[in-house]
Amino acid sequence: MQQEQKRQQKEQPYTVVLAPNPSVMTGPGTNTIIVGSEATGALVIDPAVEAEDYLEQVITAGKARGGIRRILITHGHPDHCGGAAALRERLGVPVLAFSRAGVTLADEELEDGARLPVGDDSLLAIHTPGHRFDHLCFLLEQAGILFAGDLLAGVGTVVIAPPEGDMTAYLASLRRLQRLELRSIVPGHGPIITDPGSKLAEYIDHRLLREQQVITALARFPEGATVSALVPHVYADVSSTLHALAAQSLTAHLLKLEQEGRVRRQDGERWQLLS
Ligand SMILES: [Zn+2]
Repeated sequence: MQQEQKRQQKEQPYTVVLAPNPSVMTGPGTNTIIVGSEATGALVIDPAVEAEDYLEQVITAGKARGGIRRILITHGHPDHCGGAAALRERLGVPVLAFSRAGVTLADEELEDGARLPVGDDSLLAIHTPGHRFDHLCFLLEQAGILFAGDLLAGVGTVVIAPPEGDMTAYLASLRRLQRLELRSIVPGHGPIITDPGSKLAEYIDHRLLREQQVITALARFPEGATVSALVPHVYADVSSTLHALAAQSLTAHLLKLEQEGRVRRQDGERWQLLS
């Protein structure tokens, strides 16, 4: 390998290939990550779509790092595993995910704490449910770089949609990441996060502020209120075109408060503040 290429790989231990799937939900598209070196071969995280040109770019980036040996999936949403079957067919390498219940095409399951060698470093799988029950983040341990899937977003917000999503689990996962020593976070969508500590604190504060707004809104409805009645009060700062998505996150907040015994549900759909 060229000296120059070697030097670049040491400085930047991963390559990002942007998938051609931009949308409201995915921002500029999914960040597909290729990590590894000639010595150990490469791993690819989240091949997102089957587009020929894109898969070719992923394979080429893998070749520069010793060739792709495994396909890893952060979670089973189509914008993170939509290209996995096509890539597996072309390369004949296995697909690894947290569970087959989450990613039915997975060949192997990766449990929390599993480690895969990549060059001089190792990639640690961290089970981080919240956005989805099967969500894994991958930590490049010595470099302190976290590949965060949809636990954080470089742009926009992360949707927590029950029953796949769970606000209690989401906050616990963010707090777990706070205990790691991170230099940067590469999210599944949007730009790299270079201030992991403050970004994680911001995410937690934002959700707790929202929770407080839910409680304030519920206090206006002593007889209880439905999610659709609460949304405009809690998400007054969010465009009404996003209120259907906001209703999912609001439900996730209400379920967390219900678990904590702070609200109750009447007739299955009217939420009421307790105490
Ligand atoms: Zn997702």
